Amino acid sequence: MAEGDQQRFKRVLLKVSGEALMGDRHFGINPVTVDRIASEIKAVTELGTEICLVIGGGNIFRGMSGAAAGLERGTADYMGMLATVMNALAMQGGLERIGVPTRVQSAIPMATICEPFIRRRAIRHMEKGRVVIFAAGTGSPYFTTDTTAALRATEMNCDAIFKGTQVDGVYSADPNKVADAERYDNLDYMDVLSRDLQVMDASAVSLARENSIPILVFSIHNPNSFASVVKGEGIFTVISDTI
Ligand code: UDP
Repeated sequence: MAEGDQQRFKRVLLKVSGEALMGDRHFGINPVTVDRIASEIKAVTELGTEICLVIGGGNIFRGMSGAAAGLERGTADYMGMLATVMNALAMQGGLERIGVPTRVQSAIPMATICEPFIRRRAIRHMEKGRVVIFAAGTGSPYFTTDTTAALRATEMNCDAIFKGTQVDGVYSADPNKVADAERYDNLDYMDVLSRDLQVMDASAVSLARENSIPILVFSIHNPNSFASVVKGEGIFTVISDTI
């Protein structure tokens, strides 16, 4: 990554899975982990980068598992979207505790707890230095928060999608299960799609590809990793069409 990239990342979207908020727990939200991720985000706001967030819901509820347990898929997916709202509120709390102004915007209007998603308003919030947290996914069942991340990044004219994961980039196989899994520094969108590399779902990668938004994959658990990657330092994988 070349010098000056920090400048290129004027506005970014960070996607974290619900799982990332669990910390060492097996379910739900670990407040210590939320606070740590909040301070990572604060460090990036201090670089002058505008930030919006999409948080998953898998730590609380996933539509697929609800459907497997006998719920109607649409209903189960709405429950999954509601889980993302809880995570968004937890992250808002974590950020505001350390003085980062935020707004939560939900794709499913919930007037008493947050704003509805309004594209131009979200952009204005970021211009004013607020972190915008997009909740309730796309608002439609059969989608994921990865696809939401690609969609909102496109709508917000973000320079990149930052995908904070459990490992420090994209591997040929799960490095926690396959000892000799290969780690990549750069990948083409088509590599990810054709080799079915498990980093973001195919619709998210396709949307990022169509709109030429690079995806930077890094470990959300390495201290100070978000700010490092925004500065082009540290360990990460870039998915783009420029290699
Ligand atoms: N979901 C949905 N539509 C969306 C986004 C999410 O129906 O646009 C539901 C879906 O059931 C999903 C759940 O919300 O399983 C939680 O999101 P996701 O699985 O993407 O969370 P993550 O894996 O990132 O924690």
